[in-house]
Amino acid sequence: AAKAAGRGNFQFFSADMNAATHERLLLESRLWQALDQGEFELFLQAQIELDSGRVIGAEALLRWHHPELGLVGPDRFIPIAEESGLILPLGDWVLKRAVQLLDRWRGMGLGHVRLAVNLSARQCHGTGLLAQLDSLLTSTGIDPALLELEITESAAMQDPERSRGLLQQLRSRGIKVAIDDFGTGYSSLSYLKLFELDRIKIDRGFVKDIETDPDDAVIVAATIGLAHALGLEVIAEGVETQAQASFLRSKHCDEAQGYLFARPGTLAEFEALAAAPARAVA
Ligand code: C2E
Ligand code: MG
Ligand code: MG
Ligand code: MG
Repeated sequence: AAKAAGRGNFQFFSADMNAATHERLLLESRLWQALDQGEFELFLQAQIELDSGRVIGAEALLRWHHPELGLVGPDRFIPIAEESGLILPLGDWVLKRAVQLLDRWRGMGLGHVRLAVNLSARQCHGTGLLAQLDSLLTSTGIDPALLELEITESAAMQDPERSRGLLQQLRSRGIKVAIDDFGTGYSSLSYLKLFELDRIKIDRGFVKDIETDPDDAVIVAATIGLAHALGLEVIAEGVETQAQASFLRSKHCDEAQGYLFARPGTLAEFEALAAAPARAVA
């Protein structure tokens, strides 16, 4: 009923409203202005090549500086943006900003650093994505291989045939494609057959217990082997401990991302890390 009453109506904020609903309304009512007001920021999290310890890339992770709620993470507002349709202009903004960053890095000795961007389901199944990418890449002359697009299994499976076509189109341009949260879907193996990919990102849920759960260790090792046999690269997400990194390296996982190396942070923080000498991964 509150929703039907429309945006910005103060009858929403009644005393008996629970905190979660209240927060949702605070987010929802401001979401459309937020883009115009410049309240979004791309945080960056380093991606590390395990053999060399070098920072070879970053993942762009969206943050919202909400005037009342402070720094808000994407799990709290992306679902609302998806429902309301704002995800399309927001996704356009993210891609534009990402290509700007690649352009900036080229001019400061970080021209080898790849940038991965998350795509929402709506972006994948809409029509404007390829035209936008073409225009961004031609206007900057950025090497398309420096841009990686991450798509989750669930987004890809909302319309598998269409996703298949989109991924083919991306790869024909030289843009890299990664499956995010790999292993969390219902038939992950079939995606390897259905979609043309460059990389899989092993979900944090499998990495978390590799030291203690023999099943997870076997699943991760076998997934790396399978991906390599299919010619794909592998990055592990959510690496938090040295033991996890060592295990992954011993199983020839190519890259890793996680709090052990760096938390998602500001552009300045990431650039300092990327420019610093590599730290060996034991
Ligand atoms: P994701 O793409 O799977 O991103 C990885 C998430 O794991 C990030 O959460 C990151 O901060 C977190 N993470 C990284 N390393 C560690 C670790 O070592 N331990 C733990 N516990 N967590 C770690 P974040 O930034 O909150 O993003 C959540 C999700 O929001 C992302 O999951 C992605 O699906 C979505 N997202 C982020 N930015 C965008 C965007 O620009 N567009 C769209 N459509 N979705 C986005
Ligand atoms: Mg991701
Ligand atoms: Mg992920
Ligand atoms: Mg995730």
